[in-house]
Amino acid sequence: MLRNDQLDQWDRENFFHPSTHLAQFARGEAPNRIVKGGSGSHIEDRDGNKLLDAFAGLYCVNVGYGRTEISDAIAEQARELAYYHAYVGHGTEASITLSKMILDRAPDHMSKVYFGLGGSDANETNVKLIWYYNNILGRPEKKKIISRWRGYHGSGLITGSLTGLELFHKKFDLPMAQIKHTEAPYYYRRDNLDQSEEQFVQHCVDKLEEMIEREGADTIAAFIGEPVLGTGGIVPPPAGYWEAIQKVLDKHDILFVADEVVTGFGRLGSMMGSEHYGLKPDLITIAKGLTSAYAPLSGSIVSDKMWKVLEQGTDEFGAIGHGWTYSAHPIGAAAGVANLKLLDDLNLISNNREVGGYLKKTMTEALGDHPNVGEVRGEGMLCAVEFVKDKDSRTFFDAADKIGPQVASALSESGVIGRAMPQGDILGFAPPFCLTKEEADEVVTKTVAAAQKVLG
Ligand code: PLP
Repeated sequence: MLRNDQLDQWDRENFFHPSTHLAQFARGEAPNRIVKGGSGSHIEDRDGNKLLDAFAGLYCVNVGYGRTEISDAIAEQARELAYYHAYVGHGTEASITLSKMILDRAPDHMSKVYFGLGGSDANETNVKLIWYYNNILGRPEKKKIISRWRGYHGSGLITGSLTGLELFHKKFDLPMAQIKHTEAPYYYRRDNLDQSEEQFVQHCVDKLEEMIEREGADTIAAFIGEPVLGTGGIVPPPAGYWEAIQKVLDKHDILFVADEVVTGFGRLGSMMGSEHYGLKPDLITIAKGLTSAYAPLSGSIVSDKMWKVLEQGTDEFGAIGHGWTYSAHPIGAAAGVANLKLLDDLNLISNNREVGGYLKKTMTEALGDHPNVGEVRGEGMLCAVEFVKDKDSRTFFDAADKIGPQVASALSESGVIGRAMPQGDILGFAPPFCLTKEEADEVVTKTVAAAQKVLG
């Protein structure tokens, strides 16, 4: 086995890490962690540290680490048939079975699933399907897509544009012109503190209506949103938000994409976020929880309404010109089948509801009154603690103070992984669904200690 110092050197010399300060990393100023194993809610690194991973990787290892039911299914599929493509009607038992399992768990009006590899490429597929749809319907001008500030939809050119976080635009010449951003449903950060939640929802609706009016409804094809804002700060929507937004979209014949990369398959304590909030999307993006990240796989679930037009398009113009070599990769599909089965067999969504609720409650009790904690919020197995400089005036810290990253780093030193969300001093938690109440207690106790260490 390679020595740790050898790996460390190769890591810094050869490996281009995503979302990393490249210069600091190369100079050895930023830490690395070489992960070698995991079991349940814990990972283990090469230095012998065992950490409670309260972010489930990147909110994706939903069933927890070390599930042999999934790794055995992957190994068996690899032995039998590691790869065949899905073009021109090809498939495998795993990919066909998984399509059926997904549709069985999606809202009734959904029709088919297109498989990709990750959330970004699935949203890329969605945009292409939306443009194709409007071209087939003879509406070539109806192409713009409305996303929200603080939304996260990926890192590609179009998907990085859909993402509404400055870090993903700055210096990349994004967002692209077809993408427009509207108000985030972030009640805690509303400009007008006198607004009730209901008034704030109306404000979000007004902003959306103004944008549609300004741009022209005949130029706007779709609206994309995560049921709960994830990377933008783990922000559940205010009551009534989705109902009100969907009314506006219906009125203007604007398609709705529910990006369920995080919320799909149980994260909110319901099978799908669409079910949780009564959404009626035209497309649903799925990834992470589909395989619990045991293998890369994503999907775009297409509604009946869109599917009819896609069929019409191929009758008029021939086979659809869209495909990836690894669409419906058999190993990913086998992982998906085993993962969704495990989710049911172990009743993990019900545990998620119970322990997720407990985590939010105990975190609120422990930190809700802290002078530098503005809000503790969450839904299902998602929880966030937002730090503020002054609670009464709701003044935020200067980003340069890096309060969120400092707390996350202190927390990790104590053996618990939380995530400093990229914009604002927000510490996020998205543990595996198998988290126990004792583990939730550990997350809370160590978060309190980390906050104390940084903020006094
Ligand atoms: N959509 C949402 C809601 C996400 O949270 C993410 C990733 O975190 C993506 C899309 C992009 O997925 P990927 O990183 O697999 O490309």
